[in-house]
Amino acid sequence: MTVKEYVAFRKETLRQEASAFAVPPTLVIIQANDNPASDAYIRGKLKDSEELGFKAELWKFPPTISQEDLLKEIDKANADPLVDGLIVQLPLPPHINEDVIKKAVDPKKDVDGFHPETSFEPCTPKGICDYLGHEGFVFRGANAVVLGRSNIVGKPMAHMLLKRDCTVTVLHSKTSLEDQKFYIGHADLIIAAIGRNAYLDGRFEYKKSAFIVDVGINRGEDGKLHGDAIPDLPVALQTPVPGGVGLLTRIALMENLMVAAKNR
Ligand code: NAP
Repeated sequence: MTVKEYVAFRKETLRQEASAFAVPPTLVIIQANDNPASDAYIRGKLKDSEELGFKAELWKFPPTISQEDLLKEIDKANADPLVDGLIVQLPLPPHINEDVIKKAVDPKKDVDGFHPETSFEPCTPKGICDYLGHEGFVFRGANAVVLGRSNIVGKPMAHMLLKRDCTVTVLHSKTSLEDQKFYIGHADLIIAAIGRNAYLDGRFEYKKSAFIVDVGINRGEDGKLHGDAIPDLPVALQTPVPGGVGLLTRIALMENLMVAAKNR
């Protein structure tokens, strides 16, 4: 199944599950920035929620809000039994400590998976792993290569693949091209998250049975969005950009919200 088909299938399942609830799964999004990219992400989350018969509310505050007042709003959502999931949209203004805010969200409502004691997995790696599992990828013992070691993508991705019993190699900008060619050539799964247009191309050899997940989002000279890999590499599965990991991240949030609602 393509990512689009998979997401449509999961949405249908979630919609059916949501219709059985007297009070629909309910999400609160707290925003304390004027960031246009955040506005776009939030619009996506509100649209997905509505489409699935979930309820979602945006609590928007000016970026001048104090940390104390923001914590009070988080407490309000934490204490409300009708709120299943709570997310605080990043980035936060510089006078607010992101770590304090992440830890203030009730771990039972932390559908972004940011709290240290959360039972939820972070949405991008979870969305990727759910899709791979659905497509029949066998994690246990597979050679997985993660390109990129950032705190927001590479590291959580590598951690989740380890949890699923892959043998994980993390490549980064100080890994020689020769070593990259070696590890990529032996990989059953390649997660590309470096932010370089067309980095994975014909210079590398790939296993024919390999799965490639392209997390990169790069604006090309043509003005369009491209991934870290050129399209149509000779492998078993490759996710497109756009229409790939972005959609998987969005559906994973809705899956987490459904679990939170079931745990009510
Ligand atoms: P980042 O913080 O810039 O990290 C990039 C990573 O790639 C770093 O670890 C860097 O290594 C490594 N790298 C750079 N050049 C490399 C090379 N030639 N060979 C091997 N490794 C190399 O970026 P990020 O925030 O992780 O994001 C990565 C990409 O994913 C971006 O295109 C971003 O837009 C996209 N993204 C997509 C989603 C989604 O939902 N689809 C979500 C978040 C991010 P060093 O550590 O050595 O510098």
